Amino acid sequence: MVVTRFAPSPTGRLHVGNIRTALHNWMWARAHGGRFLLRLDDTDAERSTEENVVAIRADLAWLGLSPDAEARQSDRFALYERRFEELRAAGRVYPCYETAEELELKRKILAGRGLPPIYDRAALQLDDAQRAALEADGHQPHWRFLLDHDEPIRWDDLIRGPQQLDPSRLSDPVIRRADGSWLYMLPSAIDDIDMGITHVVRGEDHVTNTGLQLQMFSALGATPPAFAHEALLVGSEGKLSKRLGSLGCDAFREEGIEPIALIALLGRIGTSLPVEPVASPDALFADFDFARFGRAPARFDLDELKALNARILHLLDHAAVADRLPAGMDAAAWEAIRPNMTRLSDAADWWSVVEGSVESALDDEDRAFVRQAAELAETATWDAGTWKALTGQLNAATGRKGKALFLPLRLALTGREHGPDMNALLPLIGRDRAIARLRAAGS
Ligand code: GLU
Repeated sequence: MVVTRFAPSPTGRLHVGNIRTALHNWMWARAHGGRFLLRLDDTDAERSTEENVVAIRADLAWLGLSPDAEARQSDRFALYERRFEELRAAGRVYPCYETAEELELKRKILAGRGLPPIYDRAALQLDDAQRAALEADGHQPHWRFLLDHDEPIRWDDLIRGPQQLDPSRLSDPVIRRADGSWLYMLPSAIDDIDMGITHVVRGEDHVTNTGLQLQMFSALGATPPAFAHEALLVGSEGKLSKRLGSLGCDAFREEGIEPIALIALLGRIGTSLPVEPVASPDALFADFDFARFGRAPARFDLDELKALNARILHLLDHAAVADRLPAGMDAAAWEAIRPNMTRLSDAADWWSVVEGSVESALDDEDRAFVRQAAELAETATWDAGTWKALTGQLNAATGRKGKALFLPLRLALTGREHGPDMNALLPLIGRDRAIARLRAAGS
């Protein structure tokens, strides 16, 4: 059974980059009848806020990416403590006493010699007496995970293919601070084991972390999950701009973007499959496959999203949107108006064209023309063919055609130069209102 997790740190709101990660985890689980978990990585008590937790849940709910279960790392410290003790007993974690300044100095010296900033493991040389002396002096240790340098770290990434890292070129990662608080790395591996995560799907900025965590899985006696590291998301201008980092669900809602549009776009960009308008995420599951993900950054373009949003609105059924439409707007009205919408909130506007009052300013000639139209409309049969019949009669009677025929009528009937197909709109406006509008515009 597939189990995935989305693991945001509630230190901020979700942005389009992590929405995409959440989506792919959700899609992979849904496509395989698996489970999708929300794990709040809130070990950083100072930067994590309850407000962000609430907002993350709300954003996922709006997107329709509902988790099958939720866990918070701050509830799980006892487990981390237990597993940490096992690693300590096995000699896979060790206490270090260097201050931040000392570590910085070491890095500077290495850089001066043109060497990479790899921790020298000096703390491993301390004996019990030296450690006791340091602690008696008030120095609390932070803890590092001891990497095994014997063999290269290897895994077959579902997106990047075979990966290899040389552990001797990596620093033993700090996993716990001197105040006892946890850094991201170890709790995440412990949770992935405990929660039976089968697939870790995340950005390629985590590739090195994966190397380190693979050794943690092994030290904890667990089989690691499969990993899929996706290329990062960049703005249409080519880099992950500040704007993209702050573009979240609130901004999308303000732009009138439907969650399904975001899903259709983020589910496909960066893959070999085309972005297509779909009415439901179900349509995307069958083809969802990490093998189709490219290595090049995925380009996110807000204009492309808006265009896709419009195309998706044009295929949504009345039932899918009914609860968000103006009262009284039935399926026929929705279908008439739908092709003209770029966002659902436009519906209210178009509905006011049907139900509200409209104004137009025509010249003398056009006024005479719409008066004539009003007279013909009085005797017309009112059904789905009225517009065609009426304009046919007016053409025969006046010789007007094209724009000269249609535009004054549209202006008189809707107050606008453009809009939905008049064949569908006229029956919605209805006989009495239409005649009154033609008369008013002609007077
Ligand atoms: N909290 C981590 C992050 O937001 C999770 C990374 C992961 O998926 O393991 O980067």
